[in-house]
Amino acid sequence: MSLSDAYQDVSQPVKDFLSRGHHQLWIDGQRTASIKEATIDVCDPSSGETIGSIAAGDAEDVDRAVRAARAAFEGPWSKWSPYERQRLLFRAAELVDLRYDDLAQIESIDMGAPISRVRASKAGALRMIQFFAAMALNIRGEALQSGLPGDVTAMILKAPVGVVGGIIPWNGPLNGQWWILGALLATGCTAVLKPAEDASLSVLWMIELLHGLGLPPGVLNVVTGRGSEAGEALARHPDVDRIAFTGSTATGRRIIHASAVNMKRLQLELGGKSPDIVFADADLDKAVPGAAMGVFANSGQICYAGTRLLVQRGIVEEFTARLGGFLDTLRLGRSLNPETQLGPIASERQFERVVSYIEIGKKEGAHLAYGGAPGRNGPGGGLFVPPTVFTNVHNDMTIAREEIFGPVVAVIPFDTMDEAIAIGNQTEYGLGGAVWSRDISTALSVVKRIHTGVMWVNCYGLIDPLVGFGGTKMSGYGAKGSEAHLDTYLYSKCVYIQG
Ligand code: NAP
Ligand code: MG
Repeated sequence: MSLSDAYQDVSQPVKDFLSRGHHQLWIDGQRTASIKEATIDVCDPSSGETIGSIAAGDAEDVDRAVRAARAAFEGPWSKWSPYERQRLLFRAAELVDLRYDDLAQIESIDMGAPISRVRASKAGALRMIQFFAAMALNIRGEALQSGLPGDVTAMILKAPVGVVGGIIPWNGPLNGQWWILGALLATGCTAVLKPAEDASLSVLWMIELLHGLGLPPGVLNVVTGRGSEAGEALARHPDVDRIAFTGSTATGRRIIHASAVNMKRLQLELGGKSPDIVFADADLDKAVPGAAMGVFANSGQICYAGTRLLVQRGIVEEFTARLGGFLDTLRLGRSLNPETQLGPIASERQFERVVSYIEIGKKEGAHLAYGGAPGRNGPGGGLFVPPTVFTNVHNDMTIAREEIFGPVVAVIPFDTMDEAIAIGNQTEYGLGGAVWSRDISTALSVVKRIHTGVMWVNCYGLIDPLVGFGGTKMSGYGAKGSEAHLDTYLYSKCVYIQG
């Protein structure tokens, strides 16, 4: 497939990858055509240009991939020692280090994340792989002298759960996939991955590159396709033991139903409406850019984005003026331009969704203080929404309750700490949140009383895989990161030995 001049500056490996035009499924260690050969266009949201296609895999393709994953799980992969799996993870870290810029370019073209942002995420990807490499040697059971009469020794062994269905969203698959890949390689599970139809390329390429390291066929398979078809088939498949899902709360609920067929273990990382609370004593030089990028980074397409900005009443005016000043400095543009700080919205359907919420905000009487006039530019009509700030928002308005997943923030004033906490907790979600204050006891009181899986103090969005993050309430369950993450890929086997 020949690409337009807009891609002259990408690396040669990226040109070679894109010139394939069509990107097949990856099953049992090789590129494989989907059975029905249906396809889905791959678009660059900066321009609207079609840059290829992926296979629209269906239930039959999922079944083939699950059979390959099962055979690998029962086959040679099960004989790999933790040391060998750790060695593979070390080599994966080297590979990702070496090839990150190519993968970053593909991610930037496919889903519209600014190339500067993706490049800056490299250290985070490497930390994740290093974390999982360490964890490969940290799978510990227990041995104890049991209390039973006679000479009985009891053991708890940890065993890999089996075949995992990994359902990945479009908002950052290059690094996001490593929460699943790392855990699989560390524990000895196998998987079928279903990336989002709007951003599958960085997953397909990563799996292909990992096979170059000698990963046995069938350990990692990728079935691209629509969520309602390939995703649903994976969640329903009776020979999949566990689902790792990141995506919307609505889809999470469907997955719970579909997975009931064989009682799959579930890890659900869902949506959020995270409160970011700024007290009057905060250092505004830090709080303004920190809170701004806490919601507008990746054009707001981050699950834990601080989309409800609670500002103490005395500083609302100053804060919003300074916020506007900061937003004036942000450069919106084509994702591959290294100067770009905010790229396009990843897909047409998401663009329409964001635009509709901006209209709802205006209709419900919130004050549009900044942005709000989405436009299309670029040759084919890129999907751009400027950072948009609504002030005078009440927490019961739609834009303060529902997840928009775009560059839109609701500024909500508060008077006292108790009020801030009450508003912060008035949501069905419980993913992230932050507090900005020079007073550590104020900050800790808020941290303790807000019901979310992760809280930041005087910063936003830092994640260390050693500690990880997670959600509560309707933001899902199952930690990402820390030993608890690995534990969900294992089950306990209790063994009794007499004599
Ligand atoms: P989504 O529609 O729920 O999609 C997520 C994934 O699920 C995609 O691969 C999608 O495939 C697939 N899918 C859709 N319907 C399915 C079904 N019935 N059965 C099985 N799989 C299905 O969410 P999205 O709009 O792509 O992503 C944005 C959402 O993800 C936001 O709500 C955000 O908060 C959440 N998110 C959460 C986290 C976290 O860690 N908590 C991280 C990132 C994103 P298709 O795209 O091909 O339909
Ligand atoms: Mg795309």
